[in-house]
Amino acid sequence: MRHLRRCVELATEALEAGDEPFGSVLAAADGTPLAEDRNRVALGDRTRHPEFELARWAAANMTPAERATATVYTSGEHCPMCAAAHGWVGLGRIVYVSSSEQLSGWLAELGVPAPPVRTLPIQEVAPAVVVEGPVPELAEAVHDLHRRLHGAP
Ligand SMILES: [Zn+2]
Repeated sequence: MRHLRRCVELATEALEAGDEPFGSVLAAADGTPLAEDRNRVALGDRTRHPEFELARWAAANMTPAERATATVYTSGEHCPMCAAAHGWVGLGRIVYVSSSEQLSGWLAELGVPAPPVRTLPIQEVAPAVVVEGPVPELAEAVHDLHRRLHGAP
């Protein structure tokens, strides 16, 4: 829960900096946080998702065995690009606060047009990855960040 709360904090930071509200933490097998990032798409590169950055950080800084036993905590379920990066670098478990299905529902309610990339459950993209979520205690906070992003009261 500590790492998931940090993900929501990072997502809040992202929103306040003009980026989309997503944040992620990479933790070692013993729970030690190793790296964290938040969404950084506002400058124009729409691939700057935190889960993608963490997968590349893991590839550069961790052994295959360390990656396999690590966990990525994240405020929102990985998109297909990030799920693929996670699978390609051989990272372990994913725990997300809110699912892609929840996000699609929220964006539809807010009248936001569908994104150019389809949302898919992580396991459709990376079937061997153990996935946990959503986490109802924190999902409403993430919902609120998306409402703020799209100017809802
Ligand atoms: Zn992504």
